[in-house]
Amino acid sequence: MTDVPPRTEIRDRFGRVFDYLRVAVTEACNLRCVYCMPPEGVDFKAGEHLLSADELLRVVRVAAGLGVTKVRLTGGEPLVRKEIGELVAGMVRVPGVESVHLTTNGVLLRERADGLLAAGLRGLNVSLDSLREERFLQITRRPGAGKVLESVRHALALGFPSVKVNVVVMRGFNDDELLDFAALTRTAPLTVRFIELMPFDEHQVWKRGRYFGSELIVARLREAHPDLAAESGSSTEEHVYRLPGHAGKVAVIPSYTRSLCGSCNRIRLTADGCIRNCLYSGEEHDLRPLLRGGATDEELGELICHAMRQKLVDGWAAQKASQSGPPRTSMTQIGG
Ligand code: SF4
Repeated sequence: MTDVPPRTEIRDRFGRVFDYLRVAVTEACNLRCVYCMPPEGVDFKAGEHLLSADELLRVVRVAAGLGVTKVRLTGGEPLVRKEIGELVAGMVRVPGVESVHLTTNGVLLRERADGLLAAGLRGLNVSLDSLREERFLQITRRPGAGKVLESVRHALALGFPSVKVNVVVMRGFNDDELLDFAALTRTAPLTVRFIELMPFDEHQVWKRGRYFGSELIVARLREAHPDLAAESGSSTEEHVYRLPGHAGKVAVIPSYTRSLCGSCNRIRLTADGCIRNCLYSGEEHDLRPLLRGGATDEELGELICHAMRQKLVDGWAAQKASQSGPPRTSMTQIGG
């Protein structure tokens, strides 16, 4: 028997292998969520600072050559990027990429869903923090709860293999809607994911006691549904449950608690071309000079591997080390 050479892979000092690339395709967003940015927005970078479609595809090709199999398109709001359908179609065709997913606020999804499915998109995560119009307006500073919900229903009707609704839970704001959200899973095969609020809003809700932890979320669900059944889910979904007799699932994501860092498999690419090895890291590794300076794919791959080898043991260590790092205070500049 001949020895099979080990497959090239992106691995860090702690033995974690990174096969999941989150690609921010824009910093721009058509909402102004209170936990993400101030009402006037943030300083979005001009077009030439952002990676072009060709540059994005090249980074995905290089990463796939190093073992990345799953790609998620994020932003900002990825659907505000006009080439989003072409980007999905291009990434789906990259050898080694097994699935392409997208995270959206859902506002533009109703009209884009058919095209995205046809382009090969396999999964949609739709952010929706309130089912009530007046609260949606308060949280996002724009109208549209009904429109987003309609988009979710349309995506399910089209037959997307995976549809998830992401809810950032905030104490005294929407924590009284947990059961209404869970009820969405009664007849629809979707997953509602309750996400802990993260401290990425320098001046806003984080400092006003809005945090509502994952244990409290589970306790609240269990109070109403004592026979909540545990299920398996993706690696970030610490607790995945099915309510008795329900078609879909509910999950809880400990984004603040960071209890899943030991099995982290994520690489992040910002819209302006930087690799971040952790959501909480302030350290960035800029691919743009290489992409625009005639570097080879090997050189690009080396920088990606180098960036991931610098990854610290967990998100707490990354946050501590990043206190002096370059500030990106809005999630829209990091790529959620
Ligand atoms: S906090 Fe950092 S290390 Fe932990 S799961 Fe998130 S990206 Fe990975």
